[in-house]
Amino acid sequence: MNPHWKRQFAEFGLVTKTDDECRSIVMVGDIEIGGPEFVVMAGPCSVESEKQLLSTAEAVSRAGAVILRGGAFKPRSSPYAFQGLGLEGLKLLKKAREATGLAVITEVMSPDDVDLVAEYADILQIGARSMENFSLLEAVGRSHRPVLLKRGLCATLVDLLRSAQFIIENGNSDVILCERGIRTFETATRNTFDIAAIPVLNAVSHLPIIADPSHAAGYSDIVPILSVAAAAVGADGILVEVHPAPEKALSDGGQSLTFSEFRSMMYDLESCTALRAHLRGPQLLVASGDAD
Ligand code: PEP
Ligand code: MN
Repeated sequence: MNPHWKRQFAEFGLVTKTDDECRSIVMVGDIEIGGPEFVVMAGPCSVESEKQLLSTAEAVSRAGAVILRGGAFKPRSSPYAFQGLGLEGLKLLKKAREATGLAVITEVMSPDDVDLVAEYADILQIGARSMENFSLLEAVGRSHRPVLLKRGLCATLVDLLRSAQFIIENGNSDVILCERGIRTFETATRNTFDIAAIPVLNAVSHLPIIADPSHAAGYSDIVPILSVAAAAVGADGILVEVHPAPEKALSDGGQSLTFSEFRSMMYDLESCTALRAHLRGPQLLVASGDAD
């Protein structure tokens, strides 16, 4: 490993690599995150209604997604914006899982809700705004569900790995990192997608890394090309927002793909995931126990 990174990340022994070949795979049912397959998690920003969620779940499943995203507890920066359906949203996610077989990822915002959300979700999402909510990190650390940890808006990679270490230190080693864009002086996009974060994290950490091009971009026009870029630089998958009618979405409509945009993105991703497998082949083989 580059000596600069070795020094910079030295404090976080639980999340950094011990040797160049070792990688962790997080199992979600029979889905391997960090394994040879590029994992696509897709769905609406917020769960809004049964019809909206089930139609989206069916569409993304048919196009090749294996995990359904959808926020029930929503971290909205305005008190006047839609705040999410809470428990009713969790129940709809369960219904969508039963109807499609997709696994479910949804955000948990409060330590008090961790047990409840873990009853309904296969992966607990820690949002960008909660990356340094240490009592929440402690609570998900005690849970038995895999955790997807989003990078905070102004967090460095050291900050992100410190929070990952916090979760693992509290007992839960199933942590997935997520690059979702950071705040910079650029205003053409909602956030700045830190594409370099993906190879850096792959070099220093054994944890899987998922890209969220939707929140990075803020505009659906460039979400597909950022997904392709993420796959090409070695991300283990993507988390992407899809809505049956983005113009009517109660949150993040401008960055949500329509069903047909999502299908066409999945088609474009196919050739790229072959490149990813080629670039990361030897490491993946060792991690899955196929090589000695
Ligand atoms: C989301 O996934 O809808 C979300 C709120 O993301 P972030 O925490 O990255 O802003
Ligand atoms: Mn969103």
